[in-house]
Amino acid sequence: MKEKDYLFGKTLEDLERITEQYGQKKFVAKQISDWLYKKDATSIMEMSNISKSFREVLNKEFFFGITPYVQVLTSKDGTKKYLFQYSEDTFVEAVCIFDKERVTLCISTQAGCKMNCDFCATGKQGFKRNLSTNEILNIFRSVEEYRQIKNIVYMGMGEPLDNFFEVKRSLEILCKEYGYGFSPKRITVSTAGYLPFLEQFLEQTNVDIAISLHNPIPMERERIMPIEKVYSIEKVIKVLRRFDWTKQRHLTFEYIVFEGLNDQDKHINSLLKLLNGLKCRINLIPFNTIPNSIYKGVEREKMILFQQKLNKKGFLTTIRASKGEDIMAACGLLSTKKLERK
Ligand code: SAH
Repeated sequence: MKEKDYLFGKTLEDLERITEQYGQKKFVAKQISDWLYKKDATSIMEMSNISKSFREVLNKEFFFGITPYVQVLTSKDGTKKYLFQYSEDTFVEAVCIFDKERVTLCISTQAGCKMNCDFCATGKQGFKRNLSTNEILNIFRSVEEYRQIKNIVYMGMGEPLDNFFEVKRSLEILCKEYGYGFSPKRITVSTAGYLPFLEQFLEQTNVDIAISLHNPIPMERERIMPIEKVYSIEKVIKVLRRFDWTKQRHLTFEYIVFEGLNDQDKHINSLLKLLNGLKCRINLIPFNTIPNSIYKGVEREKMILFQQKLNKKGFLTTIRASKGEDIMAACGLLSTKKLERK
């Protein structure tokens, strides 16, 4: 038997295909998308401007498609970590970060990850599966503060560009007028530099992008990020240089500052060579330690010193505030704990 599909997470085009298939007028698709993304309905039978008979057909063929979270942890600093369970052993995480008036949601795109970065708890879990558009967007729709969210970052579990098509569809629904009408400037997708879809991603979306750089020296980068061996950061930068990084679209390089590993003058010199003339920002990230890690983050003072050195060389450098350390905010930690219990 065919498994029931979800309506939530369908694009307007998908909905038009569905309405056409059942002999409905095209505008009915727009009515459905309003119920899905604007009116916060939770069931098909609530869609009162759609004929009862068609609602009954839809109800038979589809689930509405909202899955509540199974756990939430709140940090001393207010940061909230949500856990979603999408099947018996599929757990994904989301983090909600509060900064004065600004609420930022960090969402996941895969259960587990194939990139296997040595400092990342999700990488250590291995890869389970890609999340569907429904599952990615459900994270956004199902957190308690969803109507207050100002920024969305694709920086949770998984490599977004290794799930390009679902990620692209989720971005469409977030940004298009028929969906949530988010400004693409309020969304950032973070990638380890997954080349097979980088160009398509940059051509077909207009959200901001962050590249996990962490070390500009290839031999050193490949020790912490195996992706370097296949898709080198040099090749990634070459692709990035073909695009226009104006006020309309921002390029950020993420850089976890590890003790004694990537904060020396040689790294600054390599960064200068690698990023020469590229309009971008470097965001220094405090390391969120993970169990059995051989890595250590630098002390705050050292991080500031490194920032000052980079700024002196002309880089726009910022430091990410470390939030939610007491609730396992590092991506992958909470779901790892769940998997270990099974
Ligand atoms: N796969 C994507 C997005 C997920 S990770 C990527 O690699 O960019 C989002 C960011 O968190 C990346 O920059 C990643 O390198 C970083 N990260 C992973 N584990 C971390 C940890 N333990 N502490 C701090 N940052 C971490």
